[in-house]
Amino acid sequence: MAGEFSGAGTEPLLAAEAVRKVYLAGEVSVVALHHLDLTVRAGELIAVMGPSGSGKTTLLNCLSGLDDIDAGRVLVGGRDLFRMSDAERTEHRARSMGFVFQSYNLIPVFTALENVELPLLLVGTNASEARRRSREMLDRVGLADRAAHRPNELSGGEQQRVTVARALVARPAIVWADEPTGNLDTSMAAQIMALLRRLNREDGQTIVLVTHDPTIGAAATRMIRMRDGRLVSDEPVHPGAAGPPVDPSEARTGGPPGPRMADQPGAGAVDLHPVR
Ligand code: ADP
Ligand code: MG
Repeated sequence: MAGEFSGAGTEPLLAAEAVRKVYLAGEVSVVALHHLDLTVRAGELIAVMGPSGSGKTTLLNCLSGLDDIDAGRVLVGGRDLFRMSDAERTEHRARSMGFVFQSYNLIPVFTALENVELPLLLVGTNASEARRRSREMLDRVGLADRAAHRPNELSGGEQQRVTVARALVARPAIVWADEPTGNLDTSMAAQIMALLRRLNREDGQTIVLVTHDPTIGAAATRMIRMRDGRLVSDEPVHPGAAGPPVDPSEARTGGPPGPRMADQPGAGAVDLHPVR
């Protein structure tokens, strides 16, 4: 089952227009997003980069509807996210958005399989179908033999693969990942990134990924950079250049992948990066 809106045609999956977000901390206000515009199209794997405090997490939280905005609008499938009722927005998030955070946020008393089933059960998928699809998804992330393990019986990398399976199992329109490899060592991080890239390629899964690791950013199809709450660059990443290995098994033995250069802008990426 696809999300509640599809990426067919040229309609963007998501369009953020002049989004502003201000945090008030006591007497001090911090403008975390300054009238930010961003369009996300089907099939993109967007790396959001920028120094700590530049607004990456705020961007992700505001565009996914986890947090409110102070001005501007976010259109998803043509609908204004912040004109939905709270109930509609919650429903929209459950059906159309998947999340992967730095801390894995798995439910400790549930097995890996039960954690993956949750988003399907939340949107009313029947139990046997939810079980079948969750097993299949765990298999795809290489954890078929860990289905009955609880999170504390899994390594950090395995736990993050469970969260990736959980984020993708309901085939959401967009998966949001906030520094998903931040707690992992280099080889585990490469495995997770290779997995996200494979799911992006094989399923056309749209992913918006916050990272401050340029090696990871280079595996994306598009890289945007933030500074002080603003987008300071937005470029396609050369799709043919070397990046992290696609097969997670290669990631265990391979060295760190080299950076990829956007030396042929647009080559092979025309459909994914129409001029805005
Ligand atoms: P990043 O994810 O790029 O490190 P954030 O989006 O977390 O950046 O933060 C952007 C800015 O907003 C920073 O200056 C940060 O201190 C501020 N900020 C983030 N969350 C809050 C909050 N809940 N209250 C006050 N200020 C916040
Ligand atoms: Mg952050």
